[in-house]
Amino acid sequence: MIYYDFHIHSALSPCGDNDMTPNNIVGMAKVTGLDAVAVTDHNTVGNVRAAMKVGEEYDVTVIPGMEVETEEEVHILTLYPTIEAAEYAAAEVYKKLPDIKNKPEIFGEQRIMDEEDNIIGYEDKLLLSATSLSIESLFDLVKTAGGLFAPAHVDRHSYSILTNLGFMPDNIDIRYIEISKLVEDTGAYMESRPELKKYKILRDSDAHYLPDISPKEACLDFDDIRDLFKG
Ligand SMILES: [Zn+2]
Ligand SMILES: [Zn+2]
Repeated sequence: MIYYDFHIHSALSPCGDNDMTPNNIVGMAKVTGLDAVAVTDHNTVGNVRAAMKVGEEYDVTVIPGMEVETEEEVHILTLYPTIEAAEYAAAEVYKKLPDIKNKPEIFGEQRIMDEEDNIIGYEDKLLLSATSLSIESLFDLVKTAGGLFAPAHVDRHSYSILTNLGFMPDNIDIRYIEISKLVEDTGAYMESRPELKKYKILRDSDAHYLPDISPKEACLDFDDIRDLFKG
């Protein structure tokens, strides 16, 4: 089994703690016993290459990822088979981010780091904004990149597809949804939402602070991992 946490913010997300460095994230995952993590900052993959290099050292698989905010203010967890695919999608997402400058004193710093946790730059554009990509156009972009499109924290009352749309769109082929850690009993939650039964579930931390990274709980088997990026 592969123990995972596929939704973790680094210090590049303005809301991510400055302790969320590539080494701290991957090191914490190692200590916790996770086999695979994804660094999924808001609308960027700027710290993913560094985290992947650290992952090689620690023998923790780092899957390239990004949490994208659509124009409907819905958060979508996106994962990619390669860093190149992730960077392709991120470049398109960046173009669709409004040109608003970050105010670090209000929103937090947006630190770009290398594999030794050195700060090699700051992202100037505020990453914590809705892009002008609709849910459908983001879906197309992620598919073109060969990635996985999973509506994030569908149980939450903000930035979730069920809250903002009120339903799961059936014009796009959504295979996975993410349920947040706020839901303690996934089985009972799924019973209460029969319309979600057809989806596969990911359970992630959405950690913005190191101690919030998932414990060794949620797991997938090897077939599930292969299935993530299938078609
Ligand atoms: Zn979110
Ligand atoms: Zn998040």
